[in-house]
Formats: sequence, C-alpha cells, structure tokens
Amino acid sequence: MSTIRFQALQEVLGRTIPEVKPPSTKISDFYGANVFDKVKMKAFMSKEAYQAIAEAVENGTPIERNVAENIASAMKSWAMGKGVTHYTHWFQPLTGNTAEKHDSFFEPDANGMAVEKFSGDALVQQEPDASSFPNGGIRSTFEARGYTAWDPSSPAFIYDKTLCIPTVFVSYTGEALDYKAPLLKALSILDKAAVDVCGYFDKSITKINSSLGIEQEYFLVDLALFNARPDMLLTGRTLFGHSSAKNQQLEDHYFGSIPERVYAYMQDFETEALLLGIPLKTRHNEVAPSQFECAPIYEEINLAIDHNQLLMDLMDKVARRHNFKVLLHEKPYAGINGSGKHNNWSLITNTGKNLLSPGKTPKNNLMFLTFFVNTIKAVHEHADLLRASIASVNNDHRLGANEAPPAIISIFLGSQLNDVLDEIETSRISKKVKEDSTMWHSIPKIPSILLDNTDRNRTSPFAFTGNKFELRAVGSSANSSNPMTVLNMIVADQLIKFKADVDKLIKKGDKKDVAILTIVKKYIKESKSIRFEGNGYSDEWAAEAEARGLANIKTTPKALDALISDKSSKLFQETGVFSVREAHARHEILIEDYYKKIQIEARVMGELVTNVIIPVAVQYQTKLVANVKGLKDIGLEADAYDAQMVIIKQLSTHINFIKDNVYAMVEERKIANALEHARDKAIAYDEKVKAYFEPIRYHVDKLELLVDDNTWPLPKFRELLFIK
Ligand code: ADP
Ligand code: MG
Repeated sequence: MSTIRFQALQEVLGRTIPEVKPPSTKISDFYGANVFDKVKMKAFMSKEAYQAIAEAVENGTPIERNVAENIASAMKSWAMGKGVTHYTHWFQPLTGNTAEKHDSFFEPDANGMAVEKFSGDALVQQEPDASSFPNGGIRSTFEARGYTAWDPSSPAFIYDKTLCIPTVFVSYTGEALDYKAPLLKALSILDKAAVDVCGYFDKSITKINSSLGIEQEYFLVDLALFNARPDMLLTGRTLFGHSSAKNQQLEDHYFGSIPERVYAYMQDFETEALLLGIPLKTRHNEVAPSQFECAPIYEEINLAIDHNQLLMDLMDKVARRHNFKVLLHEKPYAGINGSGKHNNWSLITNTGKNLLSPGKTPKNNLMFLTFFVNTIKAVHEHADLLRASIASVNNDHRLGANEAPPAIISIFLGSQLNDVLDEIETSRISKKVKEDSTMWHSIPKIPSILLDNTDRNRTSPFAFTGNKFELRAVGSSANSSNPMTVLNMIVADQLIKFKADVDKLIKKGDKKDVAILTIVKKYIKESKSIRFEGNGYSDEWAAEAEARGLANIKTTPKALDALISDKSSKLFQETGVFSVREAHARHEILIEDYYKKIQIEARVMGELVTNVIIPVAVQYQTKLVANVKGLKDIGLEADAYDAQMVIIKQLSTHINFIKDNVYAMVEERKIANALEHARDKAIAYDEKVKAYFEPIRYHVDKLELLVDDNTWPLPKFRELLFIK
C-alpha cells in the first residue's frame, strides 16, 4: 500500500471515539436552550415588545424603532448571560451557504470606558460589505451596497458564542440577493390566496402556514482518507475510483445497526441541533455504505429551512470533532446511490387543520380536494419551473440515475386518490339539486386513512404521501428555499385563479359548492397528464412522458431556461415574487455556478491525471520493463514474461488514452472559455468538456486495477466506504 494511503489508514485505525455527553437524558430539559424563543422573550422583554414581535410574526406588522431598541437590549442581556460576546446578521446569499459577519457588543464610550451595546438599529439593519457575493449583475462593484434586514419570524439563536439574527439580504435598490427574501414573499401571497379560498368553507380560518419537514441524507468518510483525496477535497466528490467489490448490492446497510463511531457523531450533532431548537427526531442508515439520514419534525417552512441550513453547517462542524468529513454532495461516489433531501410539504391553518388531509365528511372532502387538485394543477402548469428549482451541477448526476427520480416532473397520488380523481372527472355534476343532497354523490368517499398510502413509489419526484406532498428531487446540499419558493408561489397563483374561476360561476348563478366542484373537475381534466403511478425509472415512462408532452430536461443549463421564459416572467410579475431583473440575475448566477464547478472538476481531473496517476502508472510500467529485461538477460524465453508484456501494453493503452483525452478536454475548455454568453458557456462545459469525464475516468479506474497496490496513491472506494 502506498505511503499516503498507509498513513491515512493508520490514522483511521488509531481513532478513539470522543465521549459525547448530552446535557441531560431528557431532551425536553435542554431543547431550544440556545434560542431566543417565546418563553425567553417574555422573560426578557417588555409586554409591548413581546406583543410587537408576535404581531410581526403573525401578520408581518413592522416593528417600531423604540420597540426594536427594547428587543435588542433584551436579546443582548439574554445572550451575554450565556457568555456571548459577538452578534451577527445571519443570511443566505446565493452561494448556497450561510453567511455571517461578526461584530462585538463591545464599544468604547465617550469617556473612553468600555461598554457592551446592541442597538435597535443594529438589530434591524446592517450593511455588510458584501460586494463579493454573487449578485448576477444587480450590484456593480462601485455600488456595492447591500443590506441585511431582520426577519423576526425566525428567532435569534446562539451559535459559536455568537448571537445570530436571521435576516434577508437585499440590494440597496431593493432587489433580493438571497434565498430568504423571495421565500417570504411567496409565503405571504400563498397565505392570502389560501385564506381567500378557505373562505368558501370556513370563515374562522385567517392564516395559513406552509409547513415543511426535510429529510437530510449524507455520507460520512474519515477525515484522513478524505484529505488524501484531492478530488474530494476540492470538488466534494470522487472524480475517479473503481467500484468496491462489495458495495450496496447486498442491501445490508439500509436501516442496519449504526456503527459506534457514527452513533457518537450523530448523538453529538443531534444534541447541538436540539439546543438550537432544531427538532431532530429520526436517524438511520441509508442504502449506500456509510450513507445516513436524519429528519426533524416538520415546522413552519421559513423556520424549517433556516434550521436545515444551520443543521448542514452544524453537521460539518461537529464531524471534525469526530474526525469525519460529512459529504452533503449529491453524488460523492459513482456506482452507488447519491443523496437527496426530501421536502415534505403541507398547508396548515390557524385553526390547526391540515388542508392536505382528507376529511371525514363530504364537505371536508371538497375542501381537501380543492387544495389537493390546485396543487396538482399548479405543478402541471409550472413543472418546468419546479425542475429548474432543483437543477444544479451535482444534482445532474443524481436525477434519473435509478436511485433518484428522473428529470421528468410527474405526480404520484396512490391508486385510491387516483381513482377518486378519475371518478370525479367522469361524474355528472347536477346543478339543479339543493346543496347537501345529490351533489355530494359526485364526490367519492375518501377514506381518512389511505391504505395504499404508497410512499413506496420512490421513483416519483413529487408524491402525495397521505397528508402531504413530498418533493423528492431536491439535492442533498441544496437550500430548500429555491424549490419551496417555486412551489408556494405556483400554488398561490393557482389558488388565485381558482377563486376567480369559482366566483365567475357563482356570479352566473351556480351554487357555491357546485361551482367549486365544477372547477375542481375542470382542473382534474386539465392537469391529468402530470399524474403517473408507474415506474419512473423505466424507459417506457420516458417514452410515454414524451408522448404526453412532459419535458425531460436532463441537464442544468437547459433546465434553467424556465427561469427566464416569458411564461415564468408573467408569473413572477403577477405574484410579485421576483422582478424580471431578479429572475435574470438568478439565472446568471446559477449558470455561472454551473460551469465554474465543471471547470474546477475538469482542472482537478487534469492535474491529478498528469501529476499523480500517469507518473504512478509509468513507474509501475518501468518496474515491469526492468523485470522483463532481467528475465531476458538470464536467458528465459518470451513465454516466461508473457503476463508482464500484456500488462505493460495495457498500461500504455490506458496511459495514452488518458493523456490524449485530457489534452483534448483542455482544448475544449479553451473553446468554452472564449464563448461570450454564459448560457453557451455552460452548455459547452456540459456537452463538450464534461463529456470527457466518463471516458477518462474509465481508463484511470482500469489503471487502479492494474497498478501495484503498494504505489496507488488515492484511497480506494473499499477504504473510503466502510467505516472503521
Ligand atoms: P417517511 O416519509 O420517511 O415515511 P414521515 O412521513 O414520517 O417519513 O416524515 C418525513 C418528514 O415529513 C418528517 O420530517 C415529518 O415531520 C414530515 N411531515 C409529516 N407530516 C407532515 C406534514 N403534514 N407537513 C409537512 N411535513 C410533514
Ligand atoms: Mg419521506
């Protein structure tokens, strides 16, 4: 084994498991201890200040200056009592990470004495010099100002001895530069649109929150092995590596017993997460070796996303304490499963009702069907936008790779609900009858517990799972704001149209319920092509989807077109979630992100091949040549060094192929770099540059099998994948 690998493996085998001690065995004793939650607000703030926050959260009412002063001072007292010295506005720029810039509470006063201060102004708004965040041309560097503004609907928390204030990040001219600002806009219009529709059924409903439960998949790898692989270090994934003889084919990892080292790590980050009020509930082994999953209990969507962003950061940080690296990349290893982030979404009213939960009475069912069918119709209308919202260079490796849903957006309902919709579609709605009589016969009975609640069809990107929809195509490293902004926006838009359609019928003299059912029926018909119950992995589905007119866009640069289409621009304008300029800026940022990441991968590949792989292969070949020469010298015939000759030739074949193709790839890069438009560049990187990855990799992996294990420098899959 090569020295590098040997040392790395020695390091791994010498690991002891750090002792992990949660503050208490009862989670309720410490849950949320680092969050400035309602209970702490009440204890530290004036009554008015508390009321102001409550109203800001409930109705988005702005908070007055003097009240903000009181809130800031309360936050400071609480935080300092917990040993905190700094504060930061915490935001989610379009890099996909979270960002923070710490300031100390400390300030010298007029007499040169030191005081600790945190003003209302500092709480409400900050101006980080953020000119280096991606902005898609919205801010030119001479007008670099962007500011962060407090989001009171997500509570402040303490992380790393710093008081973190969740904020949105917008340009001086008011354009969103982050993920949170558009999400909040989408949520607000959805709330209004859904409340308006609820008015048909239940006037006591005055507020609707989207809720989200995010299942997070990840891989763990020992830090020493990770550090010995420049490709993983720089790109988050392995660019080379022959499959391990054993990987996931025995399906022995899924839900298996959790390795001790991993268990300690899980316990540790779970404790930290619980202290931050992240309600983690579930943990288990996933399908691939060293792949795992955790999931919290669902929460209000804005908070759920903040928590997921924080959780990813936390998982990375805590992993280091355990000498692990957590891989949130969508496809760290070829040949085995990648990782996703299932987004479980539903709509919950202020009266505690889940609008996507089938009811017991026909009237309740009509309400359920209204929201259910409007969601289906929304996805049918804007499937391209939903596809764009999950597009990324990493996710391109995963979608359609027989482990994750295909790039075709379709909806799985389960046979029971599918039948219900079919039945409504073909029923006759009688307009003459009085309400609560015959009309209800048009609504089939929906069992409140769906037996065939087949969460089992894992091949569908968007599945109804009993009382929620589950978007399964989101990548494991993604910020869920992106797809969730789209989902909430398109459903809001659809509900607004629904209300208009129903009102039109009512105006014409239809009874309310008849009008609702008539439009529901119409929508069922119109959105039928998006429903698919079969195997999403099959070739037949790809063919059928095409016949149905559903898009199957396999790569990011083209999927992103939906962001700047006329149809989407119209939707953005109508809903007000993005301005045209913001949408174009986002498109540009995502396109740039795409080709820059492929550019980095291509460079790493080139360097590794030229400086590491070929030299090692040549070295081994030289040894074999010396051996053959020696055998010849002592007078042996050709059959004595037959095997050596074959390997020598094979090595040459692979080395030559790799060298030629790396050279050709570099030439393609030069051509791509010279292209003027970002989209053309991204497509060239995808179709011309990335096209070399597979063949180069194939030959490098062949070399891995041929070259003496004693000299092969990169930790092999069998070493990376099984936790020791
Ligand atoms: P699985 O999908 O793996 O069977 P569950 O359905 O129990 O697991 O839950 C997965 C996630 O969905 C969890 O985060 C859970 O809290 C969340 N969830 C459950 N009900 C809802 C709901 N009504 N709205 C949003 N998320 C939900
Ligand atoms: Mg699930």
